[in-house]
Amino acid sequence: MESDVEFPCPTCNKEGCLKMLAHSSEIPYFGEHTQITISCENCGMRQTDFIPSEDRGAVSFSLSIEKYEHLNARVVRGSSGTIRIPELDLEISPGNQSTGYVSNVEGVINRFLDIIRMMMRQSASDSKLANDEKATEELHLLLQIELALVALIKGEIFGELSLEILDPVGHSIIGHDDAIKRDLTKEEIEELDTGPKSLIMNNDENTDE
Ligand SMILES: [Zn+2]
Repeated sequence: MESDVEFPCPTCNKEGCLKMLAHSSEIPYFGEHTQITISCENCGMRQTDFIPSEDRGAVSFSLSIEKYEHLNARVVRGSSGTIRIPELDLEISPGNQSTGYVSNVEGVINRFLDIIRMMMRQSASDSKLANDEKATEELHLLLQIELALVALIKGEIFGELSLEILDPVGHSIIGHDDAIKRDLTKEEIEELDTGPKSLIMNNDENTDE
């Protein structure tokens, strides 16, 4: 079901170019849900979120990655989900441009790898340009993280790393029987970056003003 959205694009501010696409489907462990994608024809902004039919509250899922099967576990990342690999001190928080997606554990690790490699290219050019010792040190650290993540995907360090997803609105999951689900504490909810405000919520706020 596609429909026009009656408010300006939050990115380019142009009116009349937002479209909303909604469809319902079933995801294992996640259940019946509605996938909503809002996109702008003018600037290409695109935001997806997954709304479960059942309210989950603020939850976190954690999976210790111990076998190949775990790499294939389904991951639903809502636009307000924070993803962590705690043993490596890695975190992807929603930020302003966050969009939801469905992937698996291996796909999420690849997303971490993409970011690490982008940072490595940046550090490499910094350390070359300025002969910057700090950048060189950072490059070594990033290289170690990259090696660990590649080893994880290859199945060489099973049992050493885990994947964690924390979502204050409960739109994210790691779908596996071995994943541990727990409620987030009030302190955790306050600390988490909740990502971009829902566009539909923004519209409601605008009418209130
Ligand atoms: Zn736009």
